[in-house]
Amino acid sequence: MRSFEGRFSRRIEFMQYYGQISDVFKMSRKMNLERVVRAMTGRERILAVLGGQQADHLPSMPITMMFAADVLGVKYGQYARDYRILVDAQVKTAETFGFDYVSTISDPAREAADYGANVQWYEDQPPAIIEEEALFANKADLVGYKASDALSGGRREDRVRGVELLRERVGDELFVEGWVEGPCAEGADLRGISRLMLDFSDDPEFVHALFEFNVESAIQFAAVQIKAGADIIGVGDAAASLVGPRIYKEFVWPWEKRLVDAIHAMGGKVRLHICGNTRRIVDGMGTLGCEMVDIDFPVPMEEARAKTGPGQTLAGNLNPVKDVRDGTPETIVRALETLQQNAGPQWIVAAGCEIVRDTPHENVRAMVQFAQMHATEGITR
Ligand SMILES: [Zn+2]
Repeated sequence: MRSFEGRFSRRIEFMQYYGQISDVFKMSRKMNLERVVRAMTGRERILAVLGGQQADHLPSMPITMMFAADVLGVKYGQYARDYRILVDAQVKTAETFGFDYVSTISDPAREAADYGANVQWYEDQPPAIIEEEALFANKADLVGYKASDALSGGRREDRVRGVELLRERVGDELFVEGWVEGPCAEGADLRGISRLMLDFSDDPEFVHALFEFNVESAIQFAAVQIKAGADIIGVGDAAASLVGPRIYKEFVWPWEKRLVDAIHAMGGKVRLHICGNTRRIVDGMGTLGCEMVDIDFPVPMEEARAKTGPGQTLAGNLNPVKDVRDGTPETIVRALETLQQNAGPQWIVAAGCEIVRDTPHENVRAMVQFAQMHATEGITR
């Protein structure tokens, strides 16, 4: 059967990116003749694992942004500006590699740009917020500041349209992910990271006011993405890995919790993604009630598991550069075998962070093939 499957996967590679992904995946599942049971859809597979149930095999949810733009052959500036291009790139990447999901994650400047922050655009890099000209460099500017509606034609609306079009394109086959900035990351975006770090001790009241603004705006943004068809909302709170456990518990956790609870109340699920070394705060991350917590590579998976408990679904955590880009399919499979042992059944295959753009395609394929060849057990909650 191998050569038959091999021919089929090559056919998927050359399928036009605007192809009907539902049909491609339905066909692919039907043609998987070695399976006794019906293969699950990517969406069913992820939902099963997030719900503590058994899936036909492990789900794979690697984050792709610049990598996906390269797969489609577009400049990253276009990917970040135009949801139709982002959607094409995500659909083509999911088709090519067999991912179980598609995502609208692109860069941290969506919200900040809409609020009026100065953003530097690049032809082939993610847009960046200019820290020296941060929107709330002057604290007084936060007082009485009202964020515009998420659907007022800006970069947030572009993401919402992206969610809508992804849902339309992938149907029920794949899981669709929206994205918002978490309180600490957005605080760094709007205030400047170095100013924010001083604010924690100098002006706690201001930090809470800033985080409240961030979270209430993020809830509005998440609401329209869920309405547009997002299954899960990624909460990117990168800057939280820079604070210690005391500041995390006092300032960050309560606002993350407010955001997570609000997304749940709207019928969404949450994927928490904090880039970097979260060893000192990962226990707190595990008590937010997120359906899925990403673990970046600096945190040993067995430690993350021990600190978050057996019921928390964790994703990760290959090193995107050392393991995934610079590895080989063989070293990647070995690393994933170890990860699976350390992570236990509530686990989703991914790198710790974004798949970097010059990663060899066979390495990404090795990750997905590992997932496809390994069963999940599920746990009873
Ligand atoms: Zn990350």
